[in-house]
Order: sequence, then C-alpha cells, then structure tokens
Amino acid sequence: MTMGIMLISAFIAFVVTNVYYHYSLKPKNDEKITVIAEKTAEMIKNKEKEDIAGYLSSLTDLGYQFYLVDQQGNKELYGDAFRLENLKQTDIDSVLNGEIYHGIANYPWKPFVTGFFDNELTNTVGVPLEIGEETEALFVRPNALLQFGEMRFFLAALIVLVMFLSFLLILISTIFIVRPIKKLTEATKKIAAGNHHLKLNVHRRDEIGRLANNFMIMSNHLERTEEVRQEFVSNVSHEIQSPLTSIQGFSQALREEELPEEMRQSYLEIIEKESRRMSELSKQLLTLSFLDSGLIQEEYVSFDLEKQLKEVVLSTEWQWHKKKLAIELELFPYEINGNPRLLQQVWMNLLTNAIRYTNEGGRVHIRMTKERHGVIVTVKDTGIGINSEDIPRLFDRFYKVDKARTRTENSTGLGLSIVEKIIHLHKGNIMVTSEQGQGSQFEVFLPNQ
Ligand code: ADP
Repeated sequence: MTMGIMLISAFIAFVVTNVYYHYSLKPKNDEKITVIAEKTAEMIKNKEKEDIAGYLSSLTDLGYQFYLVDQQGNKELYGDAFRLENLKQTDIDSVLNGEIYHGIANYPWKPFVTGFFDNELTNTVGVPLEIGEETEALFVRPNALLQFGEMRFFLAALIVLVMFLSFLLILISTIFIVRPIKKLTEATKKIAAGNHHLKLNVHRRDEIGRLANNFMIMSNHLERTEEVRQEFVSNVSHEIQSPLTSIQGFSQALREEELPEEMRQSYLEIIEKESRRMSELSKQLLTLSFLDSGLIQEEYVSFDLEKQLKEVVLSTEWQWHKKKLAIELELFPYEINGNPRLLQQVWMNLLTNAIRYTNEGGRVHIRMTKERHGVIVTVKDTGIGINSEDIPRLFDRFYKVDKARTRTENSTGLGLSIVEKIIHLHKGNIMVTSEQGQGSQFEVFLPNQ
C-alpha cells in the first residue's frame, strides 16, 4: 500500500513539476540562454574560423553544446552530439537572416518528457553570428549531462533512499498500530464468549487509544446489562414461584375431606387471589416488553387529557369509595398528542398507588398545570409517604418499599417502572416528592409534540 502510494505520488509530482517547468521555468530558461548565446556571438564575431572553433570548443567544457551553420549550409557541431538533429531549414534561414530562434521557449509540452533535459536540436536558442560580411547561425543549449550529471545521481539516490526508508519506517510503525487492534480483536472474542471482565492495557491518546477506551466502556455496559438481565430473570422467577407454592399448598389442603366450609372458602379465595396476581404480573411483563420495543409512536393520536383523567377516577371509584377517600380534581380541557392506551395506564397506576398507600379517610388530589412547552399532571396523596432512601430506586423493576405489606396488596413492583417508561417514550419526565407519614406527590410533565 505504502509503495503504491509513493509511486502514485511520484507520478503526480512529476506531472505537476513538468507543468510548472512548461508554464513558468521554460521562458526564463530561454531568456537566460538567449543572453549567453548573444554574449558568445558578441565575443566571437568577426573572428577567424580557427579562433571561433577554439573558443567554442573550450566553452563546451563549461557545459554547453553549439551548432554552427553558415550561408552555404555547412554545419559544425561543438560539444556532445544532439540526440535528434531535427531543426527545420526555415528556422535556420530565419537566424541567418538576423532573427533570434527561441526553440527552448517554444518547445512543445509533452506530459512524460521533461523539456529541460531533452537533448534535441529544436530545443536550443539560435542567434545570428556576424563574421565579416557574412552572417552565420549559432545554436546553443546547455549540456544537461555535463552540468547536472552528478546532480542526477544525487537526486536519484535521494529519491530511492527516501522511498526505502519511508517503507521501512512505515513497516515498523504498522506493527505498533496493529498491536492494540490485535488486543481488541482478542477482547471481542472474549466478550462473545461471555467474559466481560476485561482490562485492556492500551495507554495511548490517539484514535486507537480512544477506540480501546470506548471499547472498555461498552464492555462495562454489557456487563451491567447482563447483571440487570440476570436480576430480572431471578425476580420474575421469584414472583412466579411464590404464588405457585401457595396455590399448590392450598389446593393440597382442599383435598382434606373434614375441612370446615369456612376454611375451604378462605383457601379458595387465596388461590383465586394468587392466580389473579400471576395474571396481573404476566400482563405487566408483556406491557414492559412491548414498551422496550419502543414502537408506540405509530399509535399517537390527539385526545382530551381532562376527559381521560376523569374516566380513570370514575373507573377506580369502588376502590376510593371503599376507603372513604376524598378525591379532589383541578382539571381543564387540554388536547394532548400521545398514545391514549398507555397514558391511561400511567394515570391508573399512579392513582391506584395513591389509593393503595393512603389510609382510610385520606385525600387524593389530581391537578393539571399548563406549562409553556407542555402540561404537568400532579397526583398527590395524604398517605404513608416514602422514605427518602427509597425514592431513587422507586422506578426500578420489582422494587417494593415494604415487602410484607405489598405482598398482601397484590403488588408486583412493576407499576412505576411501566409509568416511567411510558412517560420517557412520550419524551416527558416524572418527579417524586414525599415525606414519610405525610404523603407523596408524583409530578408528570408531558411536552407538546
Ligand atoms: P406496586 O405494584 O408494588 O405498587 P410500583 O412500582 O407501583 O409497584 O410501586 C413501587 C413501590 O413504591 C411500592 O411498592 C410502594 O412501596 C411505593 N409507592 C408507590 N406509590 C406510592 C405512594 N403513592 N405512596 C407511598 N408509596 C408508594
């Protein structure tokens, strides 16, 4: 890959510098050589043939090539031979007529040929040279081989060394890059096999280090999720096991023929109550799993919240009536967008809790408050209240404050977790304030949507 990148880069760099030479350096080069050619012509004008030959020969040692043509068409080469002697007769004639030939500036651009080094006769500068009455044509070009011979080797060695060393160093650095990735691969295998207790010793601050860090965070989350799942399963099993044990025990006792009728009725009542409890539990578990799927948005409709709250109060009438509770309502018509079936469940759970945990003769207050971005529904009771230590865990699945009491109250500890889940799915929130012995207050905020 590195080799490939280097070769592609070298190719692109070559084309770019070639374009740069063509548009920027070529005219300057031509100018420079024109000055040299003119100065040379100035020096040797009107000299004898032998002197001219001697002078030009010595100049070739300084790194130039010369091509001299006279009016008769005799050609004389000084210095190394040109690769191609492709100069047009018209160009020669124009110099013989006193004009300057700018072959370097007009050398055509070829993507893969560096004009600078191309040793052709067309790639020269031609100036007229006056010898007595006659004008001859002198063509000049720097001898790249002579001027840059060592330079070329130097550059070639430099490029080869840069490529070789980069390749070697990249190879070494790859080992350092790959090592933590190998560790991560091993770690994913361990997680897949169920081992979450991972410690990755990657102390880097770059992307790889961050990846390793996030990976450990993810692994910890997975571990926590796994714990919650196990706890959930053991809670569910326990909740199912205890009513089943009691049903088994009482149904066995019912086999007793001499059992007084009164006892029989009481056992049957317990069996009925326990099976109702199990049925309630499975219903709540189904609701939770449905809520976990998060597919409630599709059932959103607009409905009147006041009407729904009143219906819930009415449907629980026999419960609060039995406990002689006073229900106070402070409501107003309010259109809300949400899932009516699930929100009904929220009010039902909050109200039945308020009724359940309030002693006879108490009060339950339901109030709606309009907010700028939504509505608040408050359910407040004058019941037993909740200990401040229990409040943070109140919405946990299967959490019950008073296990002994709730056992007889047909409670599962799932009610508030369902409430919270539904409210979060409606992008709202719930807040609890409570004082033991004074009562509790549940405030539900539902945003407009
Ligand atoms: P449950 O089915 O047991 O009512 P919840 O999740 O609804 O389950 O409630 C969890 C616990 O919170 C209950 O066991 C109870 O101890 C406490 N609780 C809920 N609401 C009230 C309330 N209004 N007053 C006092 N305690 C409450």
